[in-house]
Amino acid sequence: MGKSSKDKRDAYYRLAKEQGWRARSAFKLLQLDEEFNLFEDVTRVVDLCAAPGSWSQVLSRVLIKGEKFGRCAWQDREAKFRQHMLNVVPSDAAPEQEKSIEKDEVPEAQLKPRKDVKIVSIDLQPISPLPGIITLRADITHPATVPLLLKALDPDYDPDTMNQQASQPVDLVISDGAPDVTGLHDLDIYVQSQLLFAALNLALCVLKPGGKFVAKIFRGRNVDLLYAQLKIFFEKVYVAKPRSSRASSVEAFIVCINFQPPEGFKASLEEPLGVGSRLPKMLADQNAVAPITAPVLMQSHETGAWNVTPERTQMVDEHGIEEVEVDDLSTEPHDKDIRWIAPFVACGDLSAFDSDASYKLPDDHVSLDPVQPPTAPPYKRAIELRRANGGAYGKPPSK
Ligand code: SAM
Repeated sequence: MGKSSKDKRDAYYRLAKEQGWRARSAFKLLQLDEEFNLFEDVTRVVDLCAAPGSWSQVLSRVLIKGEKFGRCAWQDREAKFRQHMLNVVPSDAAPEQEKSIEKDEVPEAQLKPRKDVKIVSIDLQPISPLPGIITLRADITHPATVPLLLKALDPDYDPDTMNQQASQPVDLVISDGAPDVTGLHDLDIYVQSQLLFAALNLALCVLKPGGKFVAKIFRGRNVDLLYAQLKIFFEKVYVAKPRSSRASSVEAFIVCINFQPPEGFKASLEEPLGVGSRLPKMLADQNAVAPITAPVLMQSHETGAWNVTPERTQMVDEHGIEEVEVDDLSTEPHDKDIRWIAPFVACGDLSAFDSDASYKLPDDHVSLDPVQPPTAPPYKRAIELRRANGGAYGKPPSK
């Protein structure tokens, strides 16, 4: 799709370019913050699946530069932009309005930079540098990423002598992880859920008690079991849909507040899904009282469906690879009590742009270039090959 047709369809896409964000996703984080006050008292943050970097830009502007993006500030900016784009500004006021949109600078006196800020951003793709932010190119599902992250958070970290828990923990972990969607819903949901669990694993290694975890989810079947597991670790768990996330998309965000690891809990990558059967056993061993019955969430190797079982049998084969007997998994949960529905919160003011709507563009509308073109898009090689072959239809036959 050409950029001008995207301009027509997507108000947030235009707004992102106008305001200098690398991606329209910035508005999702801003609208989540509007609702949940995510950045309150936060100085140490990990941004997972961060490329091209619009969430990191939000972190940089709020924590390092000290800008405030409360509801009012946001609405004010959006109102200006709406007037601009819909061309409803009275003609004599227009030049001034446009100037203020272009500049969009916050007066120095209103900035409140925070002290000792540490932001680490990770993605498979390279992230173009952002001032004050440590960027890592790594796969969040790979165990080698944990020591990398711990080292970035604490330069004194030594993987030989220290465990996999951050000695200088963080206040907030955010993850906007998404695979390249195939359009096959079940497959996309499955791959996305693997990113979510990898993000949760990392979050459990680095969060401090009281910390927050925010992550993208694709709402699939049995997603409520995931909410129940998160509820073991966090006092409050919400599922939120910002207005800038298209209603037609299965995308939503889990917002987990107040990390409260059960007593004695130590994060470990030995559990591929982070919160497997180890936890209920550990709670039982310690006679600890679990806040809710701890479910064991497992995914069927055959169907990919999430199932729950109160117990599971674990074996370790001669290669040390954990095997799980899945025979006793039913498609229905064994115990209805362990299902827990997270409150659903729609966020972003009702007056905010509707991400599914098209807005009329003024006649003199000029489409802007993206703020940060993709550094290494997966389709780059395909474009190069296509160009080398003379375009979409191949080289014209030589006469
Ligand atoms: N939050 C980003 C922003 O505001 O610019 C947008 C993130 S984009 C929707 C999803 C990102 O997930 C992509 O950049 C992709 O490279 C990344 N991703 C997918 N799988 C990953 C993995 N296994 N490890 C790290 N990043 C991954």
